[in-house]
Amino acid sequence: MNERRARSFRTTALILKRRDFGESDRMLTILSPTHGKLDVLAKGARKPLSHKAGHVELYTRSELLISRGRDFGQVAQAEMRAPYLLLRQDLTRGAYAHYAAELLDRFTAQDDHDALELFPLLDETFARLCDQALDPRTVSRFYELRLLERVGFRPELHECVIGREPIQPQSQFFSYAEGGAVCPDCAARARASLHAVSLDALKLLRHLQRSPFASVANLRIAPALHDEVERLMLGYLVYLLERRLQSAAFIQRVRAT
Ligand SMILES: [Zn+2]
Repeated sequence: MNERRARSFRTTALILKRRDFGESDRMLTILSPTHGKLDVLAKGARKPLSHKAGHVELYTRSELLISRGRDFGQVAQAEMRAPYLLLRQDLTRGAYAHYAAELLDRFTAQDDHDALELFPLLDETFARLCDQALDPRTVSRFYELRLLERVGFRPELHECVIGREPIQPQSQFFSYAEGGAVCPDCAARARASLHAVSLDALKLLRHLQRSPFASVANLRIAPALHDEVERLMLGYLVYLLERRLQSAAFIQRVRAT
């Protein structure tokens, strides 16, 4: 029998989001490596003595048995496998985990193939955010670049996105609309709004983009450089999400006519 049609299924899942539902239940948004992103109901999860509650905490990895309901699946059994405790105990690290989960949620849709392929990345990111030897900003930048690559917005950092010249070792610009570096010559002629990017920031982004995590984990990054790269990435991500929201709204308008 096709597993997707079966009445119930078992899956590993990361808990991305949860919200109160009815008197005593919780609706969870989970990420599964086999079923992608989906909403499931955890009945009774808000009752004080609920056995289930501790196994479906935010940002944990759990083994779930999900039975299919009429509208959405229900968590029939839950067993926590990786608690990622620090993500709920440490406010700062929790905020980074929230950010990572939120980005994944916003860049993927239910039944989206990208979502299930992002499972290992998010799981590793939660584990890295729990490692106090690691800088959560480096972890986050690495995560953003891999996420963007998977969902089709890999920033172009080696050639100018306007004139296609190879990028020279000097300060450059960055275009959110074109998704990459713009050389100073093209920038001088460009009408679109561009963002200055220093050579050091460009080098750091390239290193993060091409290297395995192990070779960037212990980089010593000056706070000012961290700030610059963070500003650039956040600006680009917000731009992409706004454009995505606008196109979703546009599709809805077209469907409604
Ligand atoms: Zn150019």
